[in-house]
Amino acid sequence: MVVVMKPGAAQVEVDKLIRDFQGMGLDVGVTNGVGCTILGLVGDTTAVDMHRITLNENVERVMRVQEPYKKANRKFHPEDTAVTVGGAKIGGGAFGVIAGPCSVETEAQIIEVAKDVKQSGAAMLRGGAFKPRTSPYSFQGMGVEGLELLLEAKAAAGLPIVTELMSPKYCELFEEKVDVVQIGARNMQNFDLLKEVGQMSKPVLLKRGLANTYEEWLMSAEYIMSEGNENVILCERGIRTFESYTRNTLDVAAIPAIKRMSHLPVVVDPSHSGGANWLVEPLAMAAIAAGADGLIIEVHNDPPHAKCDGAQSLTPEQFEALMGKISGLVDLMGKHIVK
Ligand code: PEP
Ligand code: MN
Repeated sequence: MVVVMKPGAAQVEVDKLIRDFQGMGLDVGVTNGVGCTILGLVGDTTAVDMHRITLNENVERVMRVQEPYKKANRKFHPEDTAVTVGGAKIGGGAFGVIAGPCSVETEAQIIEVAKDVKQSGAAMLRGGAFKPRTSPYSFQGMGVEGLELLLEAKAAAGLPIVTELMSPKYCELFEEKVDVVQIGARNMQNFDLLKEVGQMSKPVLLKRGLANTYEEWLMSAEYIMSEGNENVILCERGIRTFESYTRNTLDVAAIPAIKRMSHLPVVVDPSHSGGANWLVEPLAMAAIAAGADGLIIEVHNDPPHAKCDGAQSLTPEQFEALMGKISGLVDLMGKHIVK
C-alpha cells in the first residue's frame, strides 16, 4: 500500500503516521519526492482500512499495490487449481460439464434427466432443492425431500450432485448428502453463509452476484478459503446490464480476467446468462473459447412444463447434440472433457 502525503505536510505529522503504521506491524519505506513524501507500507495490509487513512488531513491519496485477496490470488499460487469431486476433477486442463434441471420436481423427472445427461457425457448432476425465487408465490423447491431425490438420481446414474445451499441451517445436512455445494448469485455476498461453507469439507461452486465486480467475487471466494475450504469453483452466470433482450449478459472477459487474477477454476452457466435455450450453444462455445474450465447447463425432460426456467432449459436430445459440438472446441483449447 502506498500513502502519498500532502505537499508541505509537517515532518512531525509524517512521523506520527509512520509510528501508527509501525504499530500495526508494518514496515514503512519513506521516499522524499519533489514537494511531497510517499510512504510505502510493507507487510500484511489486508486488514488496513485505506479509507480511514484518507481521513488524516495530511494525506493526499492512498493506493493499494497488492490485491486484498491472498488465498485466491494467482500471485501466491501460480499453478491452476483443479478441484476434485468424487473421482473427477475440474480445472487444470480437466473440463467438467454439470447438467440437470433448474429444480428437482419429481423422482421420475430427476432420475430420467440424470441418466440422460450421464449418457451424453456430463460429469455431475445439478438440480435445485432449495430455490431462490424472485417471487414468494413461485415454486420454492422441494427442500429436504428434493435432496433425497437427488441422492436417488445419483445412485441411479452414478453422478455426483451439485445443489444450492441458501441457509446456514442446512450446512450439516449438505455436508452429509451433497458432493458440491452451490452458492447462488443472490447469496454471493451472504458473508455468514460463506463463513459456514468455509468450514465444510465439500467443494463449493460460487456463482458471481448479479452486479458484482471481479474483486468482490474473489473476496467472497476468500471468505470461504480463509475458513479452511480451498476447494472453490467460480461460476460466471451473467450479470445485469441495461440490455433486457437477454436475461443477463454473459461477461466473457470475466473468464480470462479471473484466470489471470486467480488460480481457481472458472465454469460458465450459459443457461442463466442468456435465459433462452437457443442461446445456450453460442454462449457455451464462447465460454470454452475464452478459457472456461467447465459448464453448468440446465436440462429438462419437458421444458414447456418445467416448474422453473423452462425457457432456458435444453431437452436431453439438445444437450446430447451440444456435447457433440463442444468436444472439438474443448480439444482445440488443450483440455479434455471429464466424465
Ligand atoms: C441456479 O443455478 O438454479 C440459480 C438459481 O442460479 P443463479 O444463482 O445463478 O441465479
Ligand atoms: Mn435456474
